[in-house]
Amino acid sequence: MKKNDFESAARLIKNAKHLTAFTGAGISAESGIPTFRGKEGIWNKYDPIILDIDYFKSNPEKAYPLIKEMFYEIIDKAQPNKAHKILGQWEREGILKAIITQNIDNLHQKAGNKNVIEFHGNTRDLVCMNCGEKFSVNSIDFEQNPVICPKCGGLLKPDFVFFGEPIPADAYKQSVFHTLASDVYLVIGTTGIIMPASLLPYEAKKNGAKIIEINTEPSEYTEKITDIFLQGKATEILDKLNNLNSLIGY
Ligand code: NAD
Repeated sequence: MKKNDFESAARLIKNAKHLTAFTGAGISAESGIPTFRGKEGIWNKYDPIILDIDYFKSNPEKAYPLIKEMFYEIIDKAQPNKAHKILGQWEREGILKAIITQNIDNLHQKAGNKNVIEFHGNTRDLVCMNCGEKFSVNSIDFEQNPVICPKCGGLLKPDFVFFGEPIPADAYKQSVFHTLASDVYLVIGTTGIIMPASLLPYEAKKNGAKIIEINTEPSEYTEKITDIFLQGKATEILDKLNNLNSLIGY
C-alpha cells in the first residue's frame, strides 16, 4: 500500500476505463451531516435500536421523532460539498461511470451525478408497510406521529434500509455490475464494516481493480486491499486530485 501518492492516484483515475466511486458517511461530514461512528458520531447521541426494523414496527411513535431529528432536519438543510461536486464534474467529463453510495442524503444527486446507486435507499420517499405504495416525503403530512399511509392507513416507513432489512434488489444488482466492471475503485469516507455493502471493495480488488482510498483515518480496507491511501478530508483530497488530473495529459 502506498500512502499519499497523489500523482499515481491521479494518473490511475485519468486513465481508468471504468472508474466507480464507493462512498460512505465521511464524504458528507463536511456538509454538516454527522457520521455514525467517531467523536461526533450519531451513535454517541442515539441508540442504534431506533433503526432496527422490528423496533420500528413495534414502536413507530417512539422511533419517528428521533429519526426525523437524526436525519430529516439535518439532511433537508445540507448542501453538496466540494467532494460531491468534483464527483459530479468527473461524471459529466466521462471519467466516472457510477457512484455506489451507502448514504441516504441525496447529496450526490444534488451535486449533479446521474448514475447514483443508493445501496441503502434514501430519505426522499416513504413506503407503506401495508400496501407497498411509495410517497415522496414532500407529498405527505410528515408532522404526523407516526406517519400513516393516506391510501390504506398502514404505517409509512422511510425508504432507507433499516437494520434487519434486505438491500433493494436493483441497487444490489447494479452495484455488483459496476464493481466487477471497474478497473479503478475509489473508496471514500467509509469504515468498511457495514455488511453487505462493505464486501464490494473486496470484490473489486479480487477482480483486478486498483483501490484508491480517501479517509481521514485508516479503515478496515487500508491494510488489506488499498493500493493507494490518501489520508485527509474528502474535500481537500479530491480537490488536490482534480487539480492534478487537469495537469496530467493522456
Ligand atoms: P461511518 O459513520 O461508520 O464512518 C465514516 C467514515 O468516514 C470513517 O471511516 C471516518 O474516518 C471517515 N470520515 C469522517 N470524516 C471524513 C471526511 N471529512 N473525509 C473523509 N473521510 C471522513 O460511515 P459508513 O462506513 O459510511 O457506514 C455507516 C452507515 O451509515 C451507512 O450505511 C450509511 O447509510 C449510514 N449513514 C449515512 C449518512 C448519510 O447519508 N450522510 C450519515 C450517517 C450514517
